[in-house]
Amino acid sequence: MLGEGIVKGLAETARNFIGSYVEEERLTTVEYPEERLPAKEAARNFPFLVFDGDDPHAGLRCVACQICEKECPPQCIYIEKSKDKKPDYVGKPQLYPAVFDIDVSVCMSCQICVEVCPFDAIKMDTEFELSNTDRFGALLLDKHRLARSNVYYHKIHSTEAAEVDSHLAAEKAKIEAKAKADAEAKAKAATAKSPAPPAPKSTVPAI
Ligand code: SF4
Ligand code: SF4
Repeated sequence: MLGEGIVKGLAETARNFIGSYVEEERLTTVEYPEERLPAKEAARNFPFLVFDGDDPHAGLRCVACQICEKECPPQCIYIEKSKDKKPDYVGKPQLYPAVFDIDVSVCMSCQICVEVCPFDAIKMDTEFELSNTDRFGALLLDKHRLARSNVYYHKIHSTEAAEVDSHLAAEKAKIEAKAKADAEAKAKAATAKSPAPPAPKSTVPAI
């Protein structure tokens, strides 16, 4: 029958509308902003920079490689490399971003920056209440505003953050095992190269 689908749809809508007054599970909306639904784990808005530990500078994972800056389709990331280096999560000296800005008024939440980052340093935030009357300054986020702890990352994307942690721990264990094996091989080579000590002279008189 012509229009049968529309009638069925309207009937379902009416059933839910009237039902929402008597059955709580039919009430699918909340009175925002007083009430809020928890964000879904897969939700994403704008990127943030992850840091380990308590210090946003010392623990910042970003090494200023600028891959995300090059790959960002609307070019809304701006990075300046540091002049000095700081140790990364395995203790290797690395550059860090002296400047890392994202213009979230331009960002299109595509997540490409996250996918191309080889250091798991940039992830997508779920924060969406960013409206502001200052369209320019307030929406240009610098590295201090972008930095969020790994604890925060676990809070908003627990499954993904746990996978990243185990991947980084495995990488760290691999690097440490290689460094240990190299040190042992070097020590062995040094021992093999050093000349054997001369045999002690006999003090027993010849008969
Ligand atoms: S989410 Fe997309 S648009 Fe936004 S900063 Fe990352 S790459 Fe650029
Ligand atoms: S966030 Fe990742 S890809 Fe971007 S500069 Fe830092 S380390 Fe490189």
